[in-house]
This record gives sequence, structure tokens and C-alpha cells, in this order.
Amino acid sequence: MIKGTESVTVEVNAGVKSESGLATAFSDFKTSLRGELILPQDKDYDLARKVWNGMIDKRPAAIVRCAGVSDVIRSIKFAMENNLTIAVRGGGHNVAGNAVCDGGLVIDFSRMKSVRVDLASGTARAEPGTTWGEFDRETQQFGLATTGGLVSSTGIAGFALGGGIGWLVRKYGSTCDNLVSADVVKANGELVRASESENQDLFWGLRGGGGNFGVVTSFEFKVHRVGPMVLGGLVVHPLAKAREVLSFFREFARDSSDDLTMLGVLFTAPPAPFLPEKIHNTQVVAIAGCYCGPIEEGEEVLKPLREFGTPEVDLFQPMPYRVLQSFLDAVAPPGLQNYWKSGYLAELSDEAIETILEYNSKIPSPLSAVHIHQLGGQFSRVLDESSAFSHRDASFALNIVSTWPDPKHNEKNIAWTREFFASIQRFTNGVYVNFLGQEGEERVKAAYGEEKFQRLQQLKKKYDPTNFFHHNQNIKPAE
Ligand SMILES: Cc1cc2nc3c(=O)[nH]c(=O)nc-3n(C[C@H](O)[C@H](O)[C@H](O)COP(=O)(O)OP(=O)(O)OC[C@H]3O[C@@H](n4cnc5c(N)ncnc54)[C@H](O)[C@@H]3O)c2cc1C
Repeated sequence: MIKGTESVTVEVNAGVKSESGLATAFSDFKTSLRGELILPQDKDYDLARKVWNGMIDKRPAAIVRCAGVSDVIRSIKFAMENNLTIAVRGGGHNVAGNAVCDGGLVIDFSRMKSVRVDLASGTARAEPGTTWGEFDRETQQFGLATTGGLVSSTGIAGFALGGGIGWLVRKYGSTCDNLVSADVVKANGELVRASESENQDLFWGLRGGGGNFGVVTSFEFKVHRVGPMVLGGLVVHPLAKAREVLSFFREFARDSSDDLTMLGVLFTAPPAPFLPEKIHNTQVVAIAGCYCGPIEEGEEVLKPLREFGTPEVDLFQPMPYRVLQSFLDAVAPPGLQNYWKSGYLAELSDEAIETILEYNSKIPSPLSAVHIHQLGGQFSRVLDESSAFSHRDASFALNIVSTWPDPKHNEKNIAWTREFFASIQRFTNGVYVNFLGQEGEERVKAAYGEEKFQRLQQLKKKYDPTNFFHHNQNIKPAE
């Protein structure tokens, strides 16, 4: 046991090292690092073990805020030698909370945030602690971007490794489709590069397979000319019009230009100054979007959407891409209780809409929302077999985003989410791994399909045969 303000049980196999032996080992380890080692008795410990989802309350034996690749290699070797389990933290946003673990060692990238844009090759290389806000800031300096998250505090690392769906997904594919290369520390501590020409099998698995195969210390992405001004925003309608609005969304999405990516969303309007007072604290339905082509063209393309029905408010306007990228930040603060259930939809059928409306009418928390991400476009043109990321034929990704402040209300909010999902699941086909909670192996399998899952298991056997990296949406090595 390592002593702290509260006790922490170190997850080790019996007989490896005595308590005092482990304490000495930690002390030697600390002096070997360029970064910081945070132990339970340190003042930063409670802050450092927090992740975005306030429901996650794990107590690692130690957190290494790495300063470079050498710290990562040392951490992996230290954990191996001392039989400690390991978790890897990029932006700490994953709702499942796998970025931290009880009793093990957390490799924390929050100090590794460098981004270097290479104008000649049209790429940007970023360290794994970078958030999308930080990445966009560097790339937009040159009028460039790649598909990133809708909330600027989300980490690029877990996001890209799980796939990556954002405002540019229909124009430039998912984030992992834009990955050119990655530096990866394997379970044996060896650093390798994965790309189309080096370790192709690993490169295939990294694009969608999550953190299963190693620790990525550098991501190289293709970047594209975007903005700096795009046409973004949302139209908001009263919930009473949701049936018509969602049917319109489905039809409008069907043949829309690749330059346009939309999000259908049902939520409770906050008392925000940019929303009319009469809808404050009422349930609404909105279609948000980003048109990343020329603004005048976008104004024409978006006309039917903006002229449909009588919206309570139309917030579409030309805005810097970076502003759009943080447009939703206020509705996703860290520290709240979060429980999500998700699935891809081949079609947003009338029956699916009815189910959504039925459960939305019983929503227990005004902070919860239903998100319907439009897919298609370039996302669907990427060959399914070209990477681990799957379900390229899905038209939408549905996410029941259940959020509430007080843990006292966990039971009713979780029950609602589960019942809602149990009802809508029949319309879904597979799930996006980055929206998964702790849902078990069958659901991880559903993210890839049987055949790909088996291929991923073979890859896991090659790169991580002992399943050393298992605090993730885990793919066990093939027998
Ligand atoms: C507010 C919010 C908004 C979101 N919006 C979107 C969105 O618009 N589109 C979308 O597609 N998804 C979205 N997501 C989901 C998001 O893709 C995942 O939560 C993703 O895992 C976040 O990455 P992270 O680095 O912040 O997560 P972390 O929790 O730090 O990491 C998640 C997992 O990734 C692995 N990992 C992280 N870093 C590394 C590394 N360097 N090497 C190896 N493995 C690593 C680990 O297994 C870790 O457990 C959102 C999530 C939140 C909370």
C-alpha cells in the first residue's frame, strides 16, 4: 500500500516487490524522469486524477506527467518491472474514464502539447496532450485544419485513435483518415513509427482501434485549407415541431453537399443571451451545422434549412472556424455526471424519430441531450477495410448524452438512458467506440463487426500479447 491522504491499493501481482521496495522503486523512478511524478500524498494528486466525466473517481498509485518520449518509455518499463497496470491519458475526455485507473500508473500527456505545422507537406505534427482548441489555434494560423472535435477541450489523442467525427467529417473524412503517421511506444518499450510504409498493420489498427496497441507519442495529420471563415451556427425550433424538423433534417441530409456537416440535437435551451427569452429552459430541437466551402455558396445551400418552418432563432452566420470549434464548449463543462449510450443509424426512420420523441419527453435532466451526427460524404467513401474504423455506411451516429450534476440522481438518469437505448437499439447498427462507456466486450465488438474484431485480436497478439494496455475499450489478444 502506498500512503496518501486516503489509502490507494496498488494493483500489482503478489510477490513482486514489498511495500518498502516499491516505495524505493517509485523514488528512483521519480529522479529518472524529466517530467513530474505525482503520488497520492502530493497536493496535485486529486486534481490530476480527475477526468472530464465527474462520475469517474479512480485512485492511481502514481501519475506521470511526461515531458517527452523518454518519460513514456521509462514509465512503461517501470510499470512492467513492477507489475503495475497502466492507463494512458490524452485529453481525459473519454466518458468511460479509461484515462485513469485504480492502483496503477497513469501516463499523463497534459504537458506534451507541441504542434508543428509543415506547410510544404500540408501536415501538422502534434503531441498527444494537445486539445482540439490548441491544435486548431496552431493550424488556423495558416488557414489549415483537419477534422476535429465539436468541443475544444477534447484531446486529439483518444479522439483520433477511436476515429474522430467533427464538422469537417463529410468533407475530409474522420480524423483517423487524416492520420499520416504516428510514433508509438510498444508494450516492450520499443519506439516505432507506423504509417502507410512502416508497420502498416499497426497503422491500420491505430486508425480506429483506440489505445490497444501502444502509446502514441506523436501524431502526424494531413491538414486542409479551411476558413478561416465558415458558415456555422444552428436553427432552433420548439419541441412541438420536432417531428417535422427531424424529418426535414433526414431529407435535407440525404443529398447534402460534402461541404456541409450537420448535427440534429434535442436539448433544453439554457438561459443564454443569444437565445430568445421565451425559449429559455424549454425543450427545443435544433439543427446545427458547418458549411466549410465559400460563404456565398453556403448561404444558398443553407437556404432551405434556414427557411424551413418558423425557427425561434437562426444563429447561422459567417464565423471563424475556431469560433465554431468552441461553440458548444459551454454545454459540455467538466465534472458533471455523464452516462452515454450510442449507436449508428442506417436511416433516421419515422419509427426511430417516434422513439426519440417518446423518451425525450421523459428526459429526467435538463442538461441531457440527444445528438444525431450526420455522416456520409467523404466519411463513407473511405474503404471500410482500409482501417480499423468501421461502419462507413452509417448515415448518422446517435448519441444519448445523459448529464446531470448530482450523484444522488444517478439511478434515475442511468435508468432513463438504458431504457431509451433498449428501445432505440433495434434501429441501430454498431456503435462508435469513442462514445462507448464501460459496456463490455460485445459492445466493443459491435464497434468493429465480427471479422474486423478478429483481425484486431490478431494484431493485439502481435503488438501487446499480454494485454498490458487494457485500460481502454479492450480488444483481448487472440488465443
Ligand atoms: C465534451 C465531449 C465532446 C466530444 N465530442 C466529440 C466529437 O465531436 N466527435 C467525436 O468523434 N468524439 C467526441 N467525443 C468523444 C471523444 O472522441 C472521446 O472521448 C475521446 O476518447 C477523447 O479523447 P481524449 O484524448 O480526450 O480522451 P482520454 O480519456 O484521454 O483517452 C481515451 C482513451 O484513449 C486512449 N489514449 C489516449 N491517449 C493515448 C495515447 N497517446 N496513446 C495511446 N492511447 C491513448 C486510452 O485508451 C484512453 O483511455 C467527445 C467527448 C466529450 C467528453
